[in-house]
Amino acid sequence: MIERLCIIGVGLIGGSLARALRDAGACQEVVGAGRSVGNLQIAVDLGVIDRYETDLGQAVSGADMVVVCVPLGAMEGVFNAIKGQLSGQVVLTDVGSAKGNVIEAAQRAFGSVPDFFVPGHPIAGTEQSGVEASFPGLYNNRRVILTPLPGTSALATGRVRDMWEAAGAQVVSMNPVHHDAVLAATSHLPHLLAYSLVDTLARLDDNDEVFEYAAGGFRDFTRIASSDPVMWRDICLANRDAILLMVEHYIDDLQVLREAIRNHDGQQLLDVFTAAKSARDRFIDKSSG
Ligand code: NAP
Repeated sequence: MIERLCIIGVGLIGGSLARALRDAGACQEVVGAGRSVGNLQIAVDLGVIDRYETDLGQAVSGADMVVVCVPLGAMEGVFNAIKGQLSGQVVLTDVGSAKGNVIEAAQRAFGSVPDFFVPGHPIAGTEQSGVEASFPGLYNNRRVILTPLPGTSALATGRVRDMWEAAGAQVVSMNPVHHDAVLAATSHLPHLLAYSLVDTLARLDDNDEVFEYAAGGFRDFTRIASSDPVMWRDICLANRDAILLMVEHYIDDLQVLREAIRNHDGQQLLDVFTAAKSARDRFIDKSSG
């Protein structure tokens, strides 16, 4: 049981966590924090949080669990604002989509990474943002990756694990470098490609016609280009090295397809498409199984 949960950044991810924990009866009080009173008042009206503070130091005061749910570019500012204000028994965690960058931010803000800080990342979300888009079932049967460091307290890691399990998630642990490489491939590259494709098409002279005739495949492929641009700018800058590796790998493979088309090499195209189809079919079977 969490006595006082403090969610800094009551948007899709933070709001959904608060809702899930309240529904599970896993916390007594939820204090929200952020910059905009309008957004925080909506969170109170929706029953997501009990009360709010715009002063982050006051928001964390007396909290036994603090979850930082702001965009990656705002993490260091939040750590600076709460350091020295946290209670003795506190556990601090975050939900940022890249981990090395958040750990470095914590190191700079606190002087060294506190043993009560457990970096985390829920592998769940939608292309919507804001507290109005939050819902309690977001984490049901979804993975949450924790990336504790060798110095992280086992007790703190256990409390964060218990929190996410109470919210319905399955918790796994991973080294932060490995996390950033895996997510660059499975999430960050696909978002970059979706944004890039839609931008390329939107800049064509006859783009109205392109979008008019776009069918289901276009909608499926580009859904994630409706995600929040600020969040994805921050992710690309935060996970720069791992994303660059994947982009270079992808450009090499795209050039293979370009050459196959240029050279009328149907066999090469068939080989790539067949391998891709069977990899995707295997993945879909496994994830629906
Ligand atoms: P969101 O819906 O836009 O919510 C972010 C919240 O942070 C907003 O409510 C905003 O409220 C607050 N905020 C922004 N800047 C702030 C600052 N400088 N100080 C204090 N509060 C600030 O975004 P989200 O989708 O929940 O994403 C939040 C985090 O979750 C990001 O780090 C992201 O990488 C991670 N994440 C997202 C997803 C996803 O699919 N969306 C999945 C996994 C992890 P105010 O305007 O009131 O300040």
